[in-house]
Amino acid sequence: MLFDFMTMNHLSEKTCSLSNPGRPSSVHQAVILAGGLGTRLHPLTANLPKPMVQLNGKPFAEYLVEMLTNQGIRDILFLLGYLPDPLIKHFGDGSRFGATIRTSLCSPQSETGTRLREALPLLDPEFLLMYCDNYWPLALHRMENEWRGSGLEAMLTIYANDDRITRDNVRISSDGKIVLYDKSRTAPDLAGVDIGFGFFRRSHVESLPKGNISFERSVYPDLVSRGQLAAYVSGHRYYSIGSIERLEATARFLEFRPAILLDRDGVLNEKAPRGEYVCSPEDFRWLPAARESLARLTAAGFRIFVITNQAGIARGALTLDDLAAVNQKMTQEAANAGGRIDGVYFCPHGWHDGCACRKPKPGLLFQAQRDHALDLSRTWFLGDDERDLEAGYAAGCPSGLVTPMVPLDLWVSRVLSSMPNFHSPPETRSGEPFTQHSHHDS
Ligand SMILES: [Mg+2]
Ligand SMILES: [Zn+2]
Repeated sequence: MLFDFMTMNHLSEKTCSLSNPGRPSSVHQAVILAGGLGTRLHPLTANLPKPMVQLNGKPFAEYLVEMLTNQGIRDILFLLGYLPDPLIKHFGDGSRFGATIRTSLCSPQSETGTRLREALPLLDPEFLLMYCDNYWPLALHRMENEWRGSGLEAMLTIYANDDRITRDNVRISSDGKIVLYDKSRTAPDLAGVDIGFGFFRRSHVESLPKGNISFERSVYPDLVSRGQLAAYVSGHRYYSIGSIERLEATARFLEFRPAILLDRDGVLNEKAPRGEYVCSPEDFRWLPAARESLARLTAAGFRIFVITNQAGIARGALTLDDLAAVNQKMTQEAANAGGRIDGVYFCPHGWHDGCACRKPKPGLLFQAQRDHALDLSRTWFLGDDERDLEAGYAAGCPSGLVTPMVPLDLWVSRVLSSMPNFHSPPETRSGEPFTQHSHHDS
């Protein structure tokens, strides 16, 4: 979502979901499948259902509920099976969490389709279905807009999985439809993996066949065969509680340390004339108040990442070593002023190379996301070019345009005041060396 400085002034001080300008969604209900035995989380699930497993002292399900209420979904239905009492006791009627929370109880042996069928009287005509294993920063309005635009019956979130953290299980057509859903993950030409969030309709549950049946094994293939399952593809990594090994990374992500992404030329330093480049440290001239802005962000506990196109490398105007020297100077002088730049991501490619990292493509932003467990839905990206705004939008960041009238320091004031509750964890901020990444470093 793009913001200019005027619309920013109308933002509630309270909201963290800045990528969501408060337009009501027409999907009001989330249905969370949370009844499984959680065997892969044993022994944590010996006395607790999976969604009640604690991360940073808080049940995982509470993070999901917070995300939903931040997005405007206040009607939440948990479909429970294994050990339902701890969750029921924790959430009550939901009022403590600003939501209406209901539960539907099934046998732990019930499959997902059976759970949904038994909850049929409680389902809205359209609902957001979630599996309780994954956290992914939901962009409800955008997702819903794409769903409506597709004209299809249902939509499923897909992680692009470019970094191959898991095995793909879908094949997607060029027009954005899922044309194969392969739970066995063995078919050829799969690309992307189901995150477990989707828009479905009550009619899909009504038409389930009899018996104890899995929703995804029954309804997904049917929708796919009729060409009615849209894909919402995201490069933003999801965080899972599906297995013990993944809990640590998930806890680290959910801990949420604020971060900001900044374009370099025209935001931190004077932009070179068109077709020219900042080729040496002497060419790098700070803009007024840029260093002070970085210092304020650092003092407020923000991690700072620079995201920059450097086509001068492909064009032979400067070398990788030249760029490293420029960035070294920038980082050192920022540090001298109290600002800590945690990393620089750059695209070395030319205008017509067709890479995935040159802005307006969001590749560098997603790489920073993965490397540092950023929540891009709560991470601002500021740049001085329309292509920066496009890249920020594509990555799901709240984004802003730096101009001579609205320079970096004004933006930083707004960013800081829009995120008043985040504290600095200084003990984790020392000792990590500054890093410079091109797109292929990961
Ligand atoms: Mg720029
Ligand atoms: Zn590139």
